[in-house]
Amino acid sequence: MEPARYHNTVDGRTCESATGRWLQSVNPFTGEAWAEVPHCDAADAEQAIETAHAAFTRGPWATMSATNRGKLLRRLGDLIARDADKLAEIEVRDNGKLLAEMGAQLRYIPEWFHYYGGLADKIEGAVLPSDKPNVFTYTKREPLGVIVAITPWNSPLLLLAWKLAPALAAGNTVVVKPSEFTSCSTLALMELFAEAGFPAGVVNSVTGYGAEIGAALVEHPLVSKVAFTGGDATGAAVYATAAKNIKHVTLELGGKSPNIVFADANIDNAVKGAISGIFAASGQTCIAGSRLLVQRSVYDEVAGKVVDFARTARLGDPMAATTQVGPITTLPQRTKVLQYIDVAKAEGADCLLGGGTPTAPELTRGWFVEPTIFGGVSNAMRIAREEVFGPVLSIIPFEDDDEAATIANDTIYGLAAGIWTSDIRRAHVMADRIQAGTVWVNTYRAVSFMAPFGGYKRSGIGRESGQDAVDEYLQTKCVWINLDEEVPNPFVLR
Ligand code: NAD
Repeated sequence: MEPARYHNTVDGRTCESATGRWLQSVNPFTGEAWAEVPHCDAADAEQAIETAHAAFTRGPWATMSATNRGKLLRRLGDLIARDADKLAEIEVRDNGKLLAEMGAQLRYIPEWFHYYGGLADKIEGAVLPSDKPNVFTYTKREPLGVIVAITPWNSPLLLLAWKLAPALAAGNTVVVKPSEFTSCSTLALMELFAEAGFPAGVVNSVTGYGAEIGAALVEHPLVSKVAFTGGDATGAAVYATAAKNIKHVTLELGGKSPNIVFADANIDNAVKGAISGIFAASGQTCIAGSRLLVQRSVYDEVAGKVVDFARTARLGDPMAATTQVGPITTLPQRTKVLQYIDVAKAEGADCLLGGGTPTAPELTRGWFVEPTIFGGVSNAMRIAREEVFGPVLSIIPFEDDDEAATIANDTIYGLAAGIWTSDIRRAHVMADRIQAGTVWVNTYRAVSFMAPFGGYKRSGIGRESGQDAVDEYLQTKCVWINLDEEVPNPFVLR
């Protein structure tokens, strides 16, 4: 079958790349190219930015009331809900996520557009109680300008919604660059903006390799802000390039999140939390609870139950309702995960489950890795320090609260953490002690349009979702109005 072709949208029109080249998108379950997207270069990036800049500075978007911006965002949310099944299927083919997960995600993504649609006309300045006579001083909160939104391959639509909804609510215009591995669902989403009534040029897309066009977008002088989600090494490069022109950045980067089980926890709930923390989306989530810290007195019980539960996971076709764990999204990523498994074995970690690729014939075409669990891991091992981004869990024992907090914080990252305990005092004290942007108690992986999300330490800068996120796309102007009839003599100091 001929691969489907998805197009970019620039200035309200669908388009190919200037050179007419295409990039293949491979289905991770079949290992075969199923679609093509434009292979753009710096010239395409330039055109998209100039278009977004023109839409920001003149035309209907520049003068549109915040209330009307909000209406467009809510209409877009409704269109996403209408097309949820179609968008979900595209992302499953492109990314290998489970249809079951994508169905739920597509029903939830509209909430971001509804929430920020509501917030658009509640962005308010203030009148200052001035300390000077006869002066009226007020603040206005204004958009930044052209935003470049760069997303990774692991959750293209959700992570894009986290950027687009607040950026547009604040009145900015956007150039979107999805991952070269998984661009199709983003390009399908782009088609909805015109139908929702957004003026041409407000949201534009370019597709291609990060090093080719990502860098060109970040460097461009007409870009005011880069909203980036991806790995921390790329994030650091984006940050350095953005610094050259003093651009704003939001960086949502990686993690090595601790999921901590105390002996007083409801153990069966904690086991379920450990499983969902690492095996959901085959471990390809920034918030993966990849370090399971277990109090020594319940270590054997918890490790045994986690292994037994993980053993029941059904690997298979991500389109099938019965499948519980899908493939790894990209071939290089599968290679990387398998290399980490080898490193863990060489470092002396005890492989309690998995540790390779499945042998069932229906799973050999796709890029699967078995759900893998290592016991007896020390926090000094590479498997406990570096982000694997796959279905690989490390179980690390601890003695008491102090040791749990020390191990939990002994990482360059600080994205998220889980705490499993039935002691309310311990829950609060540990939540204070953990250096992470999100702490879950007796649950894991919950996110919401209203809950600010982002990293401490090397996990990033800035927040997405919630009211905090709209601030990331605004700048404050302070206006001084002199009410005196006469301007005083400047040589007479007062
Ligand atoms: P990546 O850093 O390789 O790529 C992310 C995006 O950056 C892609 O679109 C890529 O094309 C682009 N890019 C690459 N080089 C660039 C450059 N020099 N300039 C500009 N753009 C460039 O990340 P990935 O492998 O696609 O995604 C996995 C990573 O994303 C993991 O580390 C994961 O933890 C992280 N992530 C973080 C969050 C979060 O919210 N904190 C969420 C999901 C994923």
